[in-house]
Amino acid sequence: MDYKNLVLKYKDELLQDLSGLLEIDSVKGESSKDAPVGKGPKKALDYMLSLGQRDRMTTKEVEHLAGHIECGTGEKVFAILGHVDVVPPGSGWATDPFKPEIKNDEIYARGVQDDKGPTMAAYYAMKILNDHTSEFKYRPRLIVGTDEESDWRCTEAYFKSQEMPDAGFAPDAAFPLIHGEKGITTFNIIQKQMPLDEREPNIELKVLISGERYNMVPESAEAKLKVLQNMSEVIQSFEDFLRVEAADGHYEIDNGFLRLSINGQSAHGSTPEKGVNAGFVLLKFLDTINLDNNATEFVDFANRKILNNQDGSKFNMYHRHAEMGDTSVNVGMINYTEVDGGLFGVNLRYPEGLDFDAAINDLKREILPAGFIIEDVTNQTPHYVDKNDGLVKVLLESYRNHTDDDSEPYTIGGGTYARTLERGVAFGAMFKHTEDTMHQKNERMKVEELLLATEIYLETLHRICVKGELDED
Ligand SMILES: [Zn+2]
Repeated sequence: MDYKNLVLKYKDELLQDLSGLLEIDSVKGESSKDAPVGKGPKKALDYMLSLGQRDRMTTKEVEHLAGHIECGTGEKVFAILGHVDVVPPGSGWATDPFKPEIKNDEIYARGVQDDKGPTMAAYYAMKILNDHTSEFKYRPRLIVGTDEESDWRCTEAYFKSQEMPDAGFAPDAAFPLIHGEKGITTFNIIQKQMPLDEREPNIELKVLISGERYNMVPESAEAKLKVLQNMSEVIQSFEDFLRVEAADGHYEIDNGFLRLSINGQSAHGSTPEKGVNAGFVLLKFLDTINLDNNATEFVDFANRKILNNQDGSKFNMYHRHAEMGDTSVNVGMINYTEVDGGLFGVNLRYPEGLDFDAAINDLKREILPAGFIIEDVTNQTPHYVDKNDGLVKVLLESYRNHTDDDSEPYTIGGGTYARTLERGVAFGAMFKHTEDTMHQKNERMKVEELLLATEIYLETLHRICVKGELDED
């Protein structure tokens, strides 16, 4: 098969169908029975399924949340998993985010990179294959989700009633290929006991606030203190602290209260080492002053279990995997009030090999005597496909046949759509030099890269679904 020329013949049609999809404002909207994620995502799903019907493929809709388009024959299913919902466009666009425009050979529209462009590329790979073949070893199936940007109810509903494909990929990230994703957990560590204050503390910690999301390193932290004596000494020690630690912060006296604030550096929760947790810096200072008892318990606990715990060793959750790396811990929220006590909102990510459920139960038992409990635990287990798996081999070769990039497949701390497939990887559609404009204003995709991704997917489907190369070793 001459993949390149075949794709070129379909170029106009591909661009037209993609344009139709991009024109649908598929931001999550008001939920209804017939459109659980809102009218827009449902309309985009219907649009994709209507293309499948037009092109004489089989289609199925699942609970108005997901669906699939399938062609070919045979027992086995090879899946491509894409999504047609988008994040809100935000402001500052040079074009209308839902009126796709091609400028300098680049398509501008919300969702063109994430994930409508790649999904349409995969759809065309399937369509072209179906137009030119009648014998299949695997049925290619494009699964279309409508809730990837929020709660993944689409894949949840879909796989509840539909068979798990034998293998597949999600074109919702980058080339060459992502074959491992860490387990992702969130949980709250909450201070429960309120010991009575017996001694006379000099400083009462009224409030501490830092961060609002599990998956971000807090970039700022603020504390409100009531200082009973020697306010100027406390201020002096804060200024000394800032200088010694080279920290960015300031203080303010407000109605008799002392307000302290720290600026850190934000980073994604999967790479806490790239940021500076402002809450940690503030806790470190609070540890140096004479606080009331309850706040002292809170700060002491932070010292024992929260600070200097980027690899999870203080939770007994440190684990290293040769390909996937180490456990990482981000504390995305640190809150304390005089009335309710303290809370740490933790986002811990771990590689294959750690028994998280056992470890979290051990941690619960361990911290209970100090008056801390763990609540609201979520856990997405790690996703890993061996680098030597036939799936990785065929996909990687198909990619390399169309580019001069021979970089290796890799693993990440984040999560992609691929983790919902049992034997699945993330494959494209950003290339090595593609500017990542996902979720940003002026989201765009080069027409040339759209066609190139289609070629790569066409070769992949041809080799797996027609030639049966997945089973060769
Ligand atoms: Zn996406």
